Amino acid sequence: MSASHADDWGSNPHISIPFLYHLRQTIFLVIIPRYDVIIAGAGPTGSTAARLCAEAGLSTLVIEEHATIGYPVQCAGLLSNSAFAECEVSGASVYHTVRGARICGSPGHEFSFDAGVAKAFVVDRGRLDPEMAERAACCGAEYSLKTCITQINPQKKTLFLTGVRGRTELSYNILIAADGPRSVIARGLAIAPPRYVYAGIQAEVSWDGCQDLVELHPNASPDFFAWMIPLSSTRARIGLCSMHHAPEHFAAFAEQFGPSRVHEMTGTIPLGVRNRTYGSGCLIAGDAAGFPKPISGGGVYTGIRSARHAAVTAIAAAECGDVSDASLATYERLWRADFGQELDLGLKALSLRRSLNQSEIDATIDALNHPDILELIIRTGDMDHPSVLLRKLLTKPKLISSFGLLGIKSMMRRICLCCRS
Ligand SMILES: Cc1cc2nc3c(=O)[nH]c(=O)nc-3n(C[C@H](O)[C@H](O)[C@H](O)COP(=O)(O)OP(=O)(O)OC[C@H]3O[C@@H](n4cnc5c(N)ncnc54)[C@H](O)[C@@H]3O)c2cc1C
Repeated sequence: MSASHADDWGSNPHISIPFLYHLRQTIFLVIIPRYDVIIAGAGPTGSTAARLCAEAGLSTLVIEEHATIGYPVQCAGLLSNSAFAECEVSGASVYHTVRGARICGSPGHEFSFDAGVAKAFVVDRGRLDPEMAERAACCGAEYSLKTCITQINPQKKTLFLTGVRGRTELSYNILIAADGPRSVIARGLAIAPPRYVYAGIQAEVSWDGCQDLVELHPNASPDFFAWMIPLSSTRARIGLCSMHHAPEHFAAFAEQFGPSRVHEMTGTIPLGVRNRTYGSGCLIAGDAAGFPKPISGGGVYTGIRSARHAAVTAIAAAECGDVSDASLATYERLWRADFGQELDLGLKALSLRRSLNQSEIDATIDALNHPDILELIIRTGDMDHPSVLLRKLLTKPKLISSFGLLGIKSMMRRICLCCRS
């Protein structure tokens, strides 16, 4: 394994700065590989992979296009207990915890459940992501901020970078692509995009309702849902995802929260795993691979899990000096065994949701609003493993008959088969 070196690009004191600047703008400097692993993107996926690789003694470089890690925040910040545990951070980024949810259909169609104990954390990604990066840096990972990967040459195994060091071409041995939903690397490897690409919009509003439950509004979006996540006794995050006309749907949903909105932002949620997640020395992880959960859009848990599998694969490949596709295929086996089935099931549930109109959603809410079922949701509901609850729900005759009345029995059967396989 190569040793990590201090960064000395362009530090020669005998070269004038204007000359150097001119040089950087006009030619590509080709940098020979000095790192065992290069990681694209300093989100939760990239920083987890960086920490694990650095901890194992690999020289590790993270390349991040933004100057400040964690910004802009493009996340509602709702993490299940297990997702938060996966981050391995202090509680500094936590606003508070929530205990359950209220599901709101049209007026008169709603139900809520309260587990009585914390079921999820509401966090500030603007603090969470930097803390994860700091931990990786403490383990020896180097970060190159304000540096954008503009292109990849998989034949030569080089990356084209532009940023504070001008334009450079950097060779890599192993590359972990954790560069988010619009991954330049996946595109450069000619890997088809995820099946669904949703737009998310979010803002902070004044709020003085219940702090313990999040609200989900499936009818506010034609093909996903809207949310309200309390941040404190006076503020909440509201947001909505949809594939089409998200700003218009969001504006209609936000009306009920009054006119004052701050920190409005938009983001992308890729749903449906890409058809390939490794190749040409690269492992594609997190949002870049299309790993967010299709039922909720949450991607921090699966992102970090995929980073762990990518790191294990990268460490083994670096140790035996084998970065062939056959060696990197281990990565795909590992993530599939971990959460592949959940994502497959989630995609089926998403296509079911996309086929429902508002009155069918209201009828589904009414069917779920039964003490037995609410008790089951509290006992077995798990944001990261929804198949456990779905399997149990499918044993409830009342629910099956309600879904049958909605004309979606065959879809439920297909989901049932998927759960059993
Ligand atoms: C509106 C919205 C709400 C969400 N709410 C939740 C939620 O409540 N819970 C949850 O679990 N998930 C949520 N998500 C999804 C979650 O934000 C992502 O799944 C998660 O951030 C994925 O982490 P990542 O590290 O894979 O990618 P990212 O967090 O996207 O990080 C990728 C990093 O790569 C950098 N990068 C990108 N391209 C380049 C390049 N060319 N060169 C250099 N750097 C580059 C980016 O700047 C970024 O820092 C939400 C998403 C949206 C849009």
